[in-house]
Amino acid sequence: MKKILVTGGAGYIGSHACKALKAAGYEPVTFDNLETGWRDAVKFGPFEHGDLLDRARLDEVFAAHRPVAVMHFAALSQVGEAMSQPGRYWRNNVAGSLNLIEAAVDAGCLDFVFSSTCATYGEHDNVVLDEDTPQLPLNAYGASKRAIEDVLRDFGASHDLNSVIFRYFNVAGADPEAEVGEFHRPETHLVPLMLEAIDGKRPALTVFGTDYDTRDGTCIRDYVHVCDLVDAHVLGLKWLEEGKGNRVFNLGTGSGFTVMEVIDESRAVTNRDVPYEVGPRRAGDATCLVSGSVRAERELGWTPGRSTLKMMIEDAWRWHQTGHYEQ
Ligand code: UDP
Repeated sequence: MKKILVTGGAGYIGSHACKALKAAGYEPVTFDNLETGWRDAVKFGPFEHGDLLDRARLDEVFAAHRPVAVMHFAALSQVGEAMSQPGRYWRNNVAGSLNLIEAAVDAGCLDFVFSSTCATYGEHDNVVLDEDTPQLPLNAYGASKRAIEDVLRDFGASHDLNSVIFRYFNVAGADPEAEVGEFHRPETHLVPLMLEAIDGKRPALTVFGTDYDTRDGTCIRDYVHVCDLVDAHVLGLKWLEEGKGNRVFNLGTGSGFTVMEVIDESRAVTNRDVPYEVGPRRAGDATCLVSGSVRAERELGWTPGRSTLKMMIEDAWRWHQTGHYEQ
């Protein structure tokens, strides 16, 4: 069975990727420092504890498993934290990824799938965000991801590293079988925070700003189901295996929803009240982030079939009620 090194395999998206890889006939090897991930989330292949900043440990893992490709999810990913602690973002995300890329190249593992973000685009008024939109990130999170994209391009030119870069829009939902799901501590993301408020686990959701220039004043995001997202990664892996070369793909549905629309849909799905209050804007948030691209659908044959708000919230709610990891 071909092994794939999955950094961040104990995290939200990485754990779903491991499940999808196993289902597609690969063996996912999780590499994770468990700073934000969960040992319990590693269910579909071997686990290697380690930090991307530890080059010797990376070399050991490449030598022990001889993976044919890397899927790189491990990263700090909170906009608020990136605004207050940019150094952590540059060190962990950029220096850590550089270590990983060099270790992969030295081990002769030249197929690389990278999780980037629409936060690399920044704010573009009334512009459709496709893969050619200029990248002008508003925060150190987006800037660190853009920098890693540049490193991958340079190593592609100098060392024949082949990369598929996915720029995610807002990932939500959970494994419909609830084997893995979204669980951050602290939690900062809209959907899980809202479900915790619905369930009485927190007093209320705070809506960050109602004075944006949108249909109801709240920010617009393009939500994509985590299972659809990881399916695109398996397709990206096959793309690399077929020798199709370096490519960037947006992963979004092209439909944007406001925070208030997400709240309304959650009320409908759970049949419960959503306690919320209005707060100030969160620093670093763009008004509207919606993918304007069908490249992944056209070129990879990707179909984001579970990415309706209804299905994402239903699956997240099922996981919220039945699944958890030991803290
Ligand atoms: N949001 C909010 N309250 C929260 C968390 C998020 O109003 O407690 C809003 C946030 O301003 C953004 C959207 O919900 O417009 C999605 O935020 P999230 O943190 O889930 O993802 P991000 O857009 O930062 O990747």
